[in-house]
Amino acid sequence: MRVVIAMIKHETNTFSPVPTPLERFGDGGPYWGEAAYRQYKNTATPIGAYIELAEAAGADIAVPVGAEAWPSGPVAAEADQALNDAVADEVAKGCDMILLDLHGAMVTETSDDGEGTLVARLRQLAPDAIIAVALDSHGNLSDAIVDNADIVVGFKTYPHTDMYETGRQAGEIAFKALAGDCKPVTVWGNRPMLPHIMRQGTDEAPMRDLIDAARSEEQSGLLAASVFGGFPHADIHDAGLSVVTVADDDRGRAEAARDRILDLAWQRRADFVYRSVPARDAIARAKHLQEGPILLLDHCDNCGSGGAQDVMTVLGEMIDQDLDNAVAFAIHDPDAVAAMTAAGVGAEVTLPLGGKLDMPAIGLTGQPLTVSGRVRLISDGRYTIRGPMYTGVEVVMGRTVVLDTGKIQIVVIDRHHEPWDVGCLHALGIDLAEKRFIMLKSRVHWRAGFWPVVRHVVECAGPGVTTSDYDSLTFAKVRRPIYPLDDL
Ligand SMILES: [Zn+2]
Repeated sequence: MRVVIAMIKHETNTFSPVPTPLERFGDGGPYWGEAAYRQYKNTATPIGAYIELAEAAGADIAVPVGAEAWPSGPVAAEADQALNDAVADEVAKGCDMILLDLHGAMVTETSDDGEGTLVARLRQLAPDAIIAVALDSHGNLSDAIVDNADIVVGFKTYPHTDMYETGRQAGEIAFKALAGDCKPVTVWGNRPMLPHIMRQGTDEAPMRDLIDAARSEEQSGLLAASVFGGFPHADIHDAGLSVVTVADDDRGRAEAARDRILDLAWQRRADFVYRSVPARDAIARAKHLQEGPILLLDHCDNCGSGGAQDVMTVLGEMIDQDLDNAVAFAIHDPDAVAAMTAAGVGAEVTLPLGGKLDMPAIGLTGQPLTVSGRVRLISDGRYTIRGPMYTGVEVVMGRTVVLDTGKIQIVVIDRHHEPWDVGCLHALGIDLAEKRFIMLKSRVHWRAGFWPVVRHVVECAGPGVTTSDYDSLTFAKVRRPIYPLDDL
């Protein structure tokens, strides 16, 4: 039995000014072959689960590539081609099963449906192989993905703390199907709705209720039921909420379950609308809260959804409103990192921070903020995740500097990194429990590691390409009418 296992993941924000060359994947480039196997074996990821299952089954395993990049603009055509060719070349040698760890919202310079294009190509090369796909719950599903795969399963958690379980579920169905113990029939459907990302957290309604409905379908015998909140910042025809169900040799059952969950989602559409509070007002309110730590969430500039991570509005408000005993994670600014590294630990510096990228999609010109402080620490920015999301994976923040203004410790990095695990600050010797204010550039993933640490959460809207204000984005491709862009 020969099994090809691969990971290619990118959540594409078509409004993002950040480019996506091949070097953005992995650690300065994708992990190829043996390096991919070593990087992801024994990690709490779909690819980690696939490797474990295939080894337990005694399969002959090929892992051509493990490649994940921080969300950003459309993937460069050469990058997409190199990644897909690596998987296709391995599949062309012949295989019984293909286990894919994909995102579902990848747009490339040549295709609005990166995953669908890949899966269709692999299906042509291996018409009889079992193809299973694990997807992120922010995936925007398509006919090409579902028609060419035998099994599709998505995460049931956001923050994504069930990546391993999702891979395990998809892989187990695939091995059963190969053994002739089940005949998976997979169907999908959507409703014309674009849920806000800020309302997709699975620890609260309405998403929690939809996930409960999916779980209850699985408990009553479906092989898998997945709800995809979708990724509205990928402006493509099929963006938005969808549901995929997998039944054992029973299309009618799969379709009925799918429609029950979709109907529930449609009924709850108004609950998926999020309304922002401007940063100035939010921070003014935060100052009057008693107990810390108080989380200030800069959610419109989240690199984990394609943000530049260098918009200075929220940090600027923190300085203007004289917040003290605060930490900010993080500003992406390779030039500032280089200048502060050259100055050295202990140096007093004054420099233009952030604001390096223009964002034409939202009419924003980059505006650096002049900041003075002492270079407190310089780090290689590597740490291994111990928290519940991506457990066991070593992450690379790039060269990292802590700039201390006397009131705010500002973390400045030269690679994008959304803070979801407290390790990103612990690795820099920063004790969160002692801080009154913690500013994070994140939307929902921060909850994975920081929820137990903070006493209050204050969501602060500045400008940025991960804005939840749909009025500031020009949607050109998503199908219309769609709620809440149109009043349905
Ligand atoms: Zn996601």
